Amino acid sequence: MSTTQTDETLSVITPANIDWQTDDTGNKVPVSGEFGDVYFSHADGLAETRHVFLAHNQLPERLSKLAPQQSFTIAELGFGTGLNLLATWLLWRHLRDTHPQLATARLHFITTEKYPIPITDLTKILALWGQRAPELTELITPFLDAYPPLVAGCHRLNFFTDNLTVDMWFGDAATSLTKLSSDKSIEPTPFVDAWFLDGFAPSCNSTLWAENIFAQVQRLSRPSTTAATYSCAGVVKRALRASGFEISKVKGFGRKREMLTAIMTNAACSESNAIKSDIACDAIEVDISDNVILSESHSVVIGAGVSGLFVAWSLANRGIQVTLVDKSAPLAGASGNPRALLAPKMTPIHHVDEHLHTIGYLYSSRVYRQFNDMAQSESISSVIESTGALDLLMKANIGTEQIADYPDDMATTLSPEAARNFSGLKEQNLATNLYLPHAGLVNPQTLKQIILLHPLIRFQQLTVDSVNETETQVSIQGHNKDNAALTIDADNVVICAAFESHDIDKRIFDCRKIRGQLSWFTPTREQLTHLPKIPLKYSGYCTLFTAQTNDDSFDNEAAHQPQFLLGASFIRNDIDTHIRHEEHQISRDKLVTAIPEMSTIIPTDTRLWQGRAGVRTQTPDYHPIVGRLSDSKRMWVMSAMGAKGYALAPICADALVDMMTGTFAPLSEAMLARLLPTRVRLQTPLV
Ligand code: SAM
Repeated sequence: MSTTQTDETLSVITPANIDWQTDDTGNKVPVSGEFGDVYFSHADGLAETRHVFLAHNQLPERLSKLAPQQSFTIAELGFGTGLNLLATWLLWRHLRDTHPQLATARLHFITTEKYPIPITDLTKILALWGQRAPELTELITPFLDAYPPLVAGCHRLNFFTDNLTVDMWFGDAATSLTKLSSDKSIEPTPFVDAWFLDGFAPSCNSTLWAENIFAQVQRLSRPSTTAATYSCAGVVKRALRASGFEISKVKGFGRKREMLTAIMTNAACSESNAIKSDIACDAIEVDISDNVILSESHSVVIGAGVSGLFVAWSLANRGIQVTLVDKSAPLAGASGNPRALLAPKMTPIHHVDEHLHTIGYLYSSRVYRQFNDMAQSESISSVIESTGALDLLMKANIGTEQIADYPDDMATTLSPEAARNFSGLKEQNLATNLYLPHAGLVNPQTLKQIILLHPLIRFQQLTVDSVNETETQVSIQGHNKDNAALTIDADNVVICAAFESHDIDKRIFDCRKIRGQLSWFTPTREQLTHLPKIPLKYSGYCTLFTAQTNDDSFDNEAAHQPQFLLGASFIRNDIDTHIRHEEHQISRDKLVTAIPEMSTIIPTDTRLWQGRAGVRTQTPDYHPIVGRLSDSKRMWVMSAMGAKGYALAPICADALVDMMTGTFAPLSEAMLARLLPTRVRLQTPLV
């Protein structure tokens, strides 16, 4: 990573500089190079975490009493080595094993870190914990597998089998907390249940104990929110009191005399539903019964493309029953192509934390890798094939010098020789290129299979005729393929019907409709030896892939055969989906213009080629539409993903479900505002 950018206002992350020191017993211990302080007590950091943060936020008791579907939010200042997260996760697992009602409850752990630890150091640090506390070992591997590249912004890590969501906000905590959306005029409003105040000692880390931080702690809390910290410094006590917390000094861990525990009281908040908290001298009693927001229990999702599938998935993972409806089979529309290329669309790094495509790409590549594990255990083929990709930078909005600011594991520039080796191209001028190591090919059919295996998701063929909302429910009326009328009642409905969403509800913007045709052919053995070995991006994209037995687009004979895919045409205001030979030709022309050596390899006769056409939906500002419909309580929309559904739908779906359930979204308040169906840019009809 380049170290030339030092301006703190830019969202460039400085990785932690770990100083390995030797403690009294001869063990190597990590110390922060920036602050010169220890990340955790070297006597017994795990026991200290349990004492200070878990016990003194009363987590064992509070978590065990969560109701089905209820979410509990912990926010941490200073992620460091992740020991607090691992200890909390272990407690959560144990409680879920012993309390059946927690099966659909969810733990949301939000953490902030200005100097994230590079994965190589973190792996070493956590390996030490694996030796000292073997019970942590089974969490360390999935956590390290999901650990994000060190770029600014929110990285959501969902550990689906544990109902645990971890939002890692990389950047200064003061900035990150400001971005959390908690608009009290919108119901339900997210709030933090428990704070882990875990900066380094205030004497060496004043920014994490500053007034602007506590102003955010106050904004994001409500009566009965608790906080705990090992520090008893005067500045901490004063700041907590000034932010509306009642504080208590209690016995500290080990040889430490005291620590602080705190609870937000009614006096600091004006909400009418404020509760009376009972503060004891040596421990805080939290009124748990008040701390319940019950999610709605049945939602209908209209449209079973990639957006609808992911909205169903996110709802079901919050314990909500979902009926997914579509007039056709799932993935019959634009998102049902044989493969989708998942690759980042790079932006200059100082925009990265507000760049929806990057946030979505990083999240979805993590989710698809997790889906691979699920697919393996169900003996179905992979959801994503990790191929990497090479961008020839013909349509990029970023130059190679700006790419240098990114961590190499996200994007880098290869030498022309290495680029030739990776791609198999022989004559192409590869002086400028962008190598995307974590790009891959998504198989929509296996993704669909995994999502539809969720026990809370039921698919129902239904052509929706109307949706009616009352104070207490929504009714979806339609007919099935035998023309039999059917009504489904639900607590919420989410419209994910792409360009047809406007037909279902006129409050949804009537988006641009863009026809896109993908083309592919079965190469000969000879052609195979010359075709690019990894996916390439130019003004279009191309890739080899192997058809699977579950691929809808291939018969048994074609299964397991290599195919060469070229994409895609882009025809505005055209909703016809018949295959056109001239569009095969357009995709061929784009490829040979970008890579002239392909002109002798790619057959000129495209009559034997196959294809698939779909209609993409796009807004004038290119952002998707995600949120609640105007003047509505129970009707939501997620649509207009353009050609980027496989990168954007997973994160947008999770953000939408956060809005629906009153939990913190992984997108900034400003970004959420840019996605709303009610945003100003969508108030003028398209001409
Ligand atoms: N909770 C951690 C654990 O379980 O390992 C230990 C946290 S360590 C005591 C304090 C952390 O706060 C460090 O990782 C440090 O980089 C981070 N930090 C310090 N100042 C910060 C700031 N202004 N914004 C965000 N993080 C900050």
